[in-house]
Formats: sequence, C-alpha cells, structure tokens
Amino acid sequence: MSDIAHYIAGSRTEGSSDRRVPVFNPATGESEKSVVLANVQDVDVAVTAAKAAWPEWSKTPSLRRARILDRFKSILWDRAEQLAEAISAEHGKTHDDALGEVTRGLEVVEFATAAPTLLKGEFSENVGPGIDTQAIRQSLGVVAGITPFNFPAMVPMWMFPVALACGNTFILKPSERDPSASILIAEWLSEAGLPDGVFNVVQGDKVAVDALLHHPDVKAVSFVGSTPIAQYIHATGTANGKRVQALGGAKNHMVIMPDADMDMAVNALMGAAYGSAGERCMAISVAVPVTEAVADALVERLVPKIQALKIGPASDKASEMGPVVTAQHRDKVKGYIDAGVAEGAKLVVDGRDFKQTQQGYENGYYVGGTLFDNVTPDMSIYRDEIFGPVLSVVRRNSYQDAVDLIHGHNYANGTAVFTRDGDVARAFAQDIEVGMVGVNVPIPVPMAFHSFGGWKASIFGDHAMHGMEGVRFYTRIKTTTVRWPTGQRQDAQFSMPTLG
Ligand code: NAD
Repeated sequence: MSDIAHYIAGSRTEGSSDRRVPVFNPATGESEKSVVLANVQDVDVAVTAAKAAWPEWSKTPSLRRARILDRFKSILWDRAEQLAEAISAEHGKTHDDALGEVTRGLEVVEFATAAPTLLKGEFSENVGPGIDTQAIRQSLGVVAGITPFNFPAMVPMWMFPVALACGNTFILKPSERDPSASILIAEWLSEAGLPDGVFNVVQGDKVAVDALLHHPDVKAVSFVGSTPIAQYIHATGTANGKRVQALGGAKNHMVIMPDADMDMAVNALMGAAYGSAGERCMAISVAVPVTEAVADALVERLVPKIQALKIGPASDKASEMGPVVTAQHRDKVKGYIDAGVAEGAKLVVDGRDFKQTQQGYENGYYVGGTLFDNVTPDMSIYRDEIFGPVLSVVRRNSYQDAVDLIHGHNYANGTAVFTRDGDVARAFAQDIEVGMVGVNVPIPVPMAFHSFGGWKASIFGDHAMHGMEGVRFYTRIKTTTVRWPTGQRQDAQFSMPTLG
C-alpha cells in the first residue's frame, strides 16, 4: 500500500498521525493505496507554514503572483491527461468527464491571472479640501478550502487560484476518498515557482476540518460539500470569527414546457441526470414535464436511452457513465430506489440489478441508470439529494405549478427551463428563486469570470465562488483618507468636520 501524504511547506510529508484509510478504485472495488489522516498537530504545522509564507507573498507584486499562476496554467494544459487519469482512478468518472473537470478548473486559474486588474482599487480626489480617499483590497492571511469527492480538481480550483492571486496563503483539505489530485496540483504549483508554504495540502477527515475551524490563524474557510456539513462549517467557522462561504447540496429541477424542442430536452436530460453517475451538484435529478402529454412523450423517449447507457470503467473509452464513488454510496443509492418503490413511485427503469460483466470490473460500484415516474413531493426520493444516477419525473399541469414545485424545495442550487417561448423563459429566469438558471441549458454552471453559488439550503454565507465574488471573499477592503500639510496652520478642531 502506498500512502498519499500531506504537502506542507513545499514537500510531501506523512505528518505525525498514525491514522490511515484505504483509497479505492470504484471501477474495480479494489484498494492499492491509503491516505494519511491528519491530527491536530499536523494541521498546526501546515497553518504555521502558511502563516510564515504570508507576509512576503501578500507583498509580492500581483503581476508576479499572476505570472506564477500563468506558469501553473501551462503545466495544467500540458498534463491535463495525467490529472484526469488520477481523478478517474479514485473517483470513477469517465476520462473525458475528468478532462472536462480539469478544463473548468483551469479556467479559474486563467481568470486569476488577471490579478493586477482584479485588485485595482478606487480613488476619490478632494473628498474634502485637499483630502483624497483610496480604497484597496488586501488579502486576509491564511485561508482554508475543504472540498468534496465529486470534483477533486475543479472544486479546489474554484478556490485557491483566486485566493493566491489576492495574496493569501492556502491550506487545502481535500476529500479523503480521492486525495491524489491535490498532491499533483501542489507539486505543479511548486514547479511553477510558488514559494514554499503558500499552498499546502492537509489530508484528513473531521479531525483536520475541526482543527482548521478552531485554529486562530485561519482567517477564512471555503467549503463545498453536503448541506448538513456546510451548515456545520458555517456555524462553527463564524462562531470562531472566520469568514465562511459554505456551498451545500442540491436537487435540481428541469422544466420541460409543451413547446420545448423534445430531442434537445431528452438529450440534455440524459447528460445532466446520468453524466458522472449523477454525482454532480448541478446534476438534474428532477424532470418536470408540463402537461400529461409532454410527460408521456418524455418518458417514452427516455426509457430506451437509459437502457442503452454504456456503463463501465474510465479505461473503456466507450463508457458514458462510471461507477459511484464507494460501496457504501452504491448501497445508499440502491436504498433510495427501494424507498421510491415502497413510497409508491412508478419505477420505469431499475438500475439496481445492473451487473458489470467486463473482466476485472465485476466488483466495481456500479448502479444502472434509473427512472421513476409519478413521483410526488412528499417522497424521500424527491426531497433528498440521492447523488446517484436516479431521475425522478414529477408531472405538472401548468408553468405556475412547476414554479411552485421548485419554490417548495429546500435546495436551490441550479434549475433549467426548456421552451421556445421567450416570454416564459424570461419570466422563469427573473422569478425563480434559485441561484443558477439555464434556459435550454441543463447544467448552467457559470464560467470562471462569473460566480458559482446556489441559494437557500445550497449555500451558507454571503459570497459565491470565483469571479468577482471570489475576489471579494478573499480580500478585505481598506479605505485610507489622506491629507498632506499645505503650509497652512489651523488650530485643533473639536467638532465633526463637514464640507460646509
Ligand atoms: P461531504 O459533505 O461528505 O464532504 C465534504 C468535505 O467535508 C470533505 O472534505 C469531508 O472530508 C468533510 N467532512 C465530511 N464529514 C465531515 C464532518 N462530519 N465534519 C467535518 N468535515 C466533514 O460531501 P461529499 O460526499 O464529499 O460530496 C458530495 C456533496 O457535495 C453533495 O451533497 C453535493 O451536492 C455537494 N457538492 C456541492 C457543490 C456546490 O457547489 N454546491 C459542488 C460539489 C459538491
């Protein structure tokens, strides 16, 4: 067993903890690696290194910081295949999907290379007689990122490129289920010229997370993961005086109006529901056809496509969907399918019995594409985030019923409407209470120069990630009012100065 270690102050280290957990290949169900789980002391070593690196890094000209990120970006382009392979080996997603993840993360690095422009301040001349005011954005210090298993490269890259560009030093605590990507990233940042201690990786679980949340030298925490943990991170981090952005889970609805292009809608649903085995926070897990006729046509077209899904390992270029991440998660997803049947939903395509026959992959954590019809809002398969290849059809009779359904859900990460009617599309985009909206776009993930974040129980804290929201999160504003002696002398003034 090879151990996946931490990366602190420019080198790999196993730290002082003796706790390890195996890392599995979900495609085979086998484990050949383990990851170390940090103790409180390991976290302290990383924070100390990041704190020591901050004064110099924060004063490094932003153009120089940007150039290091630019070199890192070139390395990422050159080695995207290698990173994608590392992701697939521990996450299970297909190779092309992993490459897509790398590219979407790289785009945030691209955004961050504009650091000198992003950090330009404000200046007001003559706010009073001979008095000027300047407002600048300064870094916070040591900041931490705690990330989920489903995007082991992209989600960290939502965070650290912007944090580093703004002059912070960073500690990444990746998911313990697919930790290898984080170490490649750390080594490539060093290769790009990042000074030791500016970017560190601490592997671990709740012990490491709690140590970060309670460490007095960690000034801000970015989190992406499930809603209960997001809520916990936000409550604990803010109680300890930290700035916190915590993105949580999702249940994303796609409304299909009677005038929608049906071929487009069906293909969009296939990719959005079953891509990455449904393990995306922007996956569509609820289809909302408006009118019974649309629902019947939709289900009829979906069924053969779901049955024909090519489910297999990333090593097979023909695979459209891989396994889910762990045996426990596979059992949880199957448990939800059992629950849907028990609650009275109509199981149209059953993924529970899918058997992988490819040699060497028989024990992987595969679940077949699953479709439920006649799902109602009280059912657990509707209310909960399943995070697997399970699509629920909730039939509605009008546009307004569809909107009311979405508004009744606790999660509000992403949503989409499929229609040819500009009036309906505009009303939807304007009125829907969800953070990211697609019009004939099933997974409306904003590009790096915009910001990513949901509403309601899909986010805790004030700032979405990357784009200008990311810059605001990772900086604090300092406003300086300046007057220079003019040669005139005045007696001391004891009343509030006004312009008069
Ligand atoms: P998770 O909440 O189990 O874990 C996320 C991180 O929190 C990991 O680093 C993990 O080690 C840590 N963690 C887990 N339990 C903890 C605890 N009790 N105390 C402290 N830290 C803990 O999430 P996951 O299963 O890795 O990822 C899937 C979830 O992430 C889904 O709910 C998905 O919707 C969500 N997600 C959301 C977004 C978004 O942008 N909103 C993006 C990707 C994933």
